[in-house]
Amino acid sequence: MPKSSKPFRLVLHGGAGTIDRGAMTPEREKQYRAALEQALRAGYDVLKKGGAGLDAVEAAVRVLEDDPHFNAGRGAVFTAAGTHELDAAIMEGRTRKAGAIAAVKHIRNPITVARMVMEKSPHVLLTGDGAEDFAKQLGAEIVDQKYFDTPERWDVLQRIKKAEKAGGVGGKKFIVSEADRHGTVGAVALDQNGDLAAATSTGGMTNKRVGRIGDSPVIGAGTYANNVTCAISGTGDGEFFIRSVVAHDISALMEYRGLSLADASNAVLEKVAKLGGTEGLVAVDRAGNFALPFNTNGMYRGTVGVDGKTTVEIYK
Ligand code: ASP
Repeated sequence: MPKSSKPFRLVLHGGAGTIDRGAMTPEREKQYRAALEQALRAGYDVLKKGGAGLDAVEAAVRVLEDDPHFNAGRGAVFTAAGTHELDAAIMEGRTRKAGAIAAVKHIRNPITVARMVMEKSPHVLLTGDGAEDFAKQLGAEIVDQKYFDTPERWDVLQRIKKAEKAGGVGGKKFIVSEADRHGTVGAVALDQNGDLAAATSTGGMTNKRVGRIGDSPVIGAGTYANNVTCAISGTGDGEFFIRSVVAHDISALMEYRGLSLADASNAVLEKVAKLGGTEGLVAVDRAGNFALPFNTNGMYRGTVGVDGKTTVEIYK
C-alpha cells in the first residue's frame, strides 16, 4: 500500500436527536457503533487509495442506507399513510455539480440514484415517479416498499397516531424521542486531490404528509459542497434547514466573511436554534478541518483521517 502524504478526511452522521442513554441497551449501542465503523471503513478504503471524495461519501452512505438502524434506505420512517418516501442528494465540490431525488418509494439506495441524476442527466433534482423511472432505466436496484419496513419505525408511527387521536401533540415533540421521530444519514469528505464532496440520505420525518420533501435533497439546505469552502451534510428539522439555507449559509460565511469552518457552523446552527429548530451537521473544509456540531443531546457520528484511526460517538 503506498504511503499517502496528502491529507484526507471523512466525517459522517447517522442522525441527531434526543438519544437517551438510559433507553439504549448495550447491545443496541454496539450495533450502532459497528454500523458507523463499517461506514467509516467503506469511505476510508476509497480515500486511502487516492479515490474521489464523491466515491467515499457514496460508499459510506450506502452502508448506512442498508442498515435498518438508521432512517435512510432500509429502516426509513413511515409517512402518515404508512408508506415510505425517501430523499437523497450528493454534491461534488470541484465542479459544484449536484444530483438529488425526492419522495421515491422503491429505490434501495437513493444516494446512488442521486449520483446518477448528477452524472447521467442534465438535471439536479428528480422527484417521485419520474425519479423512479429514471432509476429503472439506469438499472438501479428497485425494491418493494416492504423492504424498508422495520417494526420499531411502525411502532413509532402508531404511537404518534394514537396521540393525535387523543388530541395530543401528535407528530410533534414528547410523544416519541426526536431520534425516533426522524434521523438521516450523511457523509462529507476531503480527498487526496483536495476535492470536497457531500452526501445525505433520509426517510424524512415519521408521520410526514405524503409528498413532503425535507432539506436533505435541497442543495444548499441539507447538502452542499464547494472546493472554495467546505462540504456539509445536515440532520434535524428539515423545514428549519430549508428556511435557513443552512449548508450554503455556512459556506457563504466562509467565502464572503472569512470565518473558520467551526465559527461558521456554530453561527448558523445558533440562527436555526433561534427559529426553534433542533439539528446537527457534519462538515469538512478544504484544509481538512472538520466540525460535528449539534444542539440535540446526541448525534450518531464518526470520523476518520489519514492515520486510519476511527472515532465514533453518540452522546453529547
Ligand atoms: N432532515 C431530515 C428531514 O427533515 C430529517 C432528519 O435529519 O432528522 O427530512
